Amino acid sequence: MDRERGSGGRGAEPVVDYGRCNGCGACVELCPGVFELRDDKAWVVDPAGCGACDCGRAVVMCPQDAISLA
Ligand code: SF4
Repeated sequence: MDRERGSGGRGAEPVVDYGRCNGCGACVELCPGVFELRDDKAWVVDPAGCGACDCGRAVVMCPQDAISLA
């Protein structure tokens, strides 16, 4: 039924803590299908849109430690 999940199929989706995000854009560069900058914050526009690292790299690379997988 829920077959439109990302490649991993585990259902872990990136969540941004807007209190921490400073809009640096690193996550947008790493996972452009997932994140988009809006008003200097990273928005998750397609949680399953990574297709490369399931946003694991974005989690590690975020300088504000603002991204988690839930
Ligand atoms: S990498 Fe982190 S601090 Fe930078 S825009 Fe993305 S969520 Fe915000």
